[in-house]
Amino acid sequence: MITKDIQLPVKKNEKGMVANVLEQFNKAADHINLNPNIRRILNVTNNEIIIHFPVKMDNGDVEIFTGYRVQHNNALGPYKGGLRYHETVDIDAAKALAMWMTWKTSLAGLPYGGAKGGIQINPKLYSQSELERITRRFTYALGDNIGPEHDIPAPDVNTNAQTMAWIADTYMSTKGPSERSTYQHVVTGKPVGSGGIEGRDRSTGYGVFLTIKLWAEKRNVNLKGKTFIVQGFGNVGYWASHFMEQEGAILVGVQDAFSSIYKSEGIEVKQLQAYVTNNEGSIKNFANSEAIEKEEFFALACDIIIPAALGNQITEHNAASIKANLIAEGANGPTNVEGEAILLANGIEIIPDILCNSGGVIGSYFEWLQNRNGELWHMDEVILKLEKVLKESFNKVYDYSISEGVDMRTAAFSIAIQRIEKAYIQRGIFP
Ligand code: NAD
Repeated sequence: MITKDIQLPVKKNEKGMVANVLEQFNKAADHINLNPNIRRILNVTNNEIIIHFPVKMDNGDVEIFTGYRVQHNNALGPYKGGLRYHETVDIDAAKALAMWMTWKTSLAGLPYGGAKGGIQINPKLYSQSELERITRRFTYALGDNIGPEHDIPAPDVNTNAQTMAWIADTYMSTKGPSERSTYQHVVTGKPVGSGGIEGRDRSTGYGVFLTIKLWAEKRNVNLKGKTFIVQGFGNVGYWASHFMEQEGAILVGVQDAFSSIYKSEGIEVKQLQAYVTNNEGSIKNFANSEAIEKEEFFALACDIIIPAALGNQITEHNAASIKANLIAEGANGPTNVEGEAILLANGIEIIPDILCNSGGVIGSYFEWLQNRNGELWHMDEVILKLEKVLKESFNKVYDYSISEGVDMRTAAFSIAIQRIEKAYIQRGIFP
């Protein structure tokens, strides 16, 4: 059910990501018979910030950039979510991704709401010093629309620990000298040494792997010798592949923004990572593998697919060709509603994004606590705590899906929405 007061921004000829996340939301809301007033609140975003800002380029010219920050809901705590630097960033993408963040943080039991944003930009076209000025000027323009107890960004596609260090430094520089250091947790995913926490770099990919392992245990599947393919070989794709390989699974195919490669005997993760690092982040022309057509990728023979790039990748156009038994959604929104219906009808299971990639925001929460409490956490502690939270989330979702007879995504959304519904009912609506 879509209430009358929401207008879905649907792109020409193509259903947008907002329509997709709202369909997922409304399916679960129907299932739990969500209070209609709360459904109305959650159907829309609280704040949508669009900023045009000028930056001086290396050649002295000034370029105007457009940045976005969408804050969906903060019933459970400060807004939380990544910043993406990509040409596909627009208000619709930011809205959809912000909504997914609300469900993700709620499902993980964190004291956060959901937000997302970024800049519509191809970062490969800019020098490092230009990217620094773009990031700092965007942060300055956002001003107190972000803040350590209000809205806490983190890395996403094409942003990393360096980006977060620039944001933290810029934001802190706008505060008085005596209080500056108390604002360090305005972003998470910072470099270790500048307020970052050990293990945050791998926490999303480790979580992707762990949810696959937990699924395999429930299904009596041994991951040793199982084949998998990964779309996106960045932070999430690399670390997920690393831990899968450590468990004995075999990486047979990789796709990134530049190329698609296949090798039935297995691609060595470390070797590919070293190659990508020295090849401007691209897998293109990696030796010892066969280059394949982009369209053939998801149809490759394998047991598990890990989409770890962008949204709307598995759709009604390619879902029927998929041979894997499991899709583990490292990316946000990689499977659209139509694609999912085909997968489920074919008996293919999906570990939904809001569970599968939630290791990242859980790691971010630990970093936030570390900064807030003036503590220093170590890797073993971080991984142990991450495992505990993820196992609890996974078991909750899995058990709910069995007991209620629903797919894992509907189960995850139902649990997440119920937690927010409870908070609203306890507090009521001001005034
Ligand atoms: P990243 O920038 O480190 O890597 C992105 C990868 O995707 C690169 O290999 C890039 O080449 C590839 N890619 C980009 N466009 C593509 C296309 N059209 N087709 C195929 N591949 C393409 O980004 P990341 O941080 O690894 O994020 C990947 C996904 O995981 C995103 O959907 C993000 O929202 C999600 N995610 C990230 C985190 C995190 O902690 N970084 C947490 C949760 C979810």
